[in-house]
Amino acid sequence: MYLFSMKSAVQSFILFIFCIFLSCSAKNTNRVLLISFDGFRWDYIHRANNLTNFHRMISDGGWAVKGIKNTFLTKTLPNHYTIATGLYEESHGIVGNIMYDPVLNSTFHGWLDKDARDSRWWDNGGEPIWVTNQKQDTQHRSGVLAWPGGLAVVKGVLAYRTESAFDGLTKKERVDKIIEWFTDEYPINLGLYYEEEPDHTGHLFGPDSKEVLSMIFELDSLLGYFFDKLEDNDLLKTTNIILTSDHGMTSTPLDAEHKINLDDYVRVDSYSITSKNPVAGIDIIPASKELEDEVFKNLSRIPHAHVYRTKDIPRQYHYGNNRRIPMIIVEPEEHYWISFNGSAGVLGEHGYNNSLASMHPFFIAMGPDFKPGAKVDTFNNVDIYPLMCTLLGLKPAPNNGSLDVVSQLLIDREGSDSTTFGAYILILLLIALVGGLFSVAACQVHRQHKRQLRSISSFSLLHSFRYSKSDRMPLMSDSSEEEFGDS
Ligand SMILES: [Zn+2]
Repeated sequence: MYLFSMKSAVQSFILFIFCIFLSCSAKNTNRVLLISFDGFRWDYIHRANNLTNFHRMISDGGWAVKGIKNTFLTKTLPNHYTIATGLYEESHGIVGNIMYDPVLNSTFHGWLDKDARDSRWWDNGGEPIWVTNQKQDTQHRSGVLAWPGGLAVVKGVLAYRTESAFDGLTKKERVDKIIEWFTDEYPINLGLYYEEEPDHTGHLFGPDSKEVLSMIFELDSLLGYFFDKLEDNDLLKTTNIILTSDHGMTSTPLDAEHKINLDDYVRVDSYSITSKNPVAGIDIIPASKELEDEVFKNLSRIPHAHVYRTKDIPRQYHYGNNRRIPMIIVEPEEHYWISFNGSAGVLGEHGYNNSLASMHPFFIAMGPDFKPGAKVDTFNNVDIYPLMCTLLGLKPAPNNGSLDVVSQLLIDREGSDSTTFGAYILILLLIALVGGLFSVAACQVHRQHKRQLRSISSFSLLHSFRYSKSDRMPLMSDSSEEEFGDS
């Protein structure tokens, strides 16, 4: 009985240790929520002291003090797809909000529902995080709310949950929707949330306007709403929240000094303009070398602008190796803007060179895997994809990003790895110790048992001797022996 209870105690203990062992070696299962506020310049968070929720994220998590460097063209659809895939625009193929593909012989308008769903535009070698997430783990589900590219099937995979940018939902209703996806019977473990502001207000009133400031406060309160909803649903502590944007914004005065009128340099009927303000992408359709030379020569006279043929675009732009890149690009200096066919300007623009600080978006992240109070100077937005893969325990698809800088925002994994290794050693020692104790105890019990047996058998011998001598009961065989004698 004693031996039996000892054995079951040891079995329970080993089971307990095994559970700890499994939990130590289990993959990271924290959720990831990626939020983009379109056109949120890196320094907007410094425009007021009482932006409570942005500042809460900074103090509780990590951030890029000078914002992050995005990719050229600093436009919405290309940069959102860069964040999702970790690729430069020439590699993922979304090189503009509007672009012409000579092979498809078609023009892409990314904000039209039909092109947003058409895989021919999006499935060009890049693998968005929502696809990586679902491909590598059948228990993983992605939800993509209004994020560019999220409606298209890529590599044969469509996000488990999708919602169009034209869903007609208010900002808060979108928050409710994505929280619903996280708490569903089959919940998502990765959510991407896109919001059009403050881009829209920045274009209309300029980045330094009071209207933009008021929109920043509105977004701060929206972020607070996000926190409340996550908290109410017991998700806040186990969700890594990444808050970023696609680009910044600069002022574009509407005076004659800052306006570049293309029609003053080239004939309206000599070219076709694809990507527009502030960088103009120009194609000659149908292609004509002679006309291309003429248009290039004339555009090269524009002051305050750099004009490139595709093959001459500087390498650091990572914007040359794709058939969708226009034949000629006109890249104005900051604050200058392009008019053609009498088109009017707006007070704020983006799309300029990605080395300009005004084009850079912000980056703040908070959650169980981020070090509170951590900060880095800056990094590239192509690094966000491998970062998300790390958080989700995924092997990244080929990409242009790196973890060199961004990993400084994370809780020290090397440290935790050595802690885990130490825990393994401790567990093994404990198992050895318990095993040893059990063997010693078993030996003792065995010896004791043998001793007991020995004393019982001596007692029985003595007893049987006395019994035979005195009051032995007659046996059947005895009587037979007596009856039949020796015959
Ligand atoms: Zn915009």
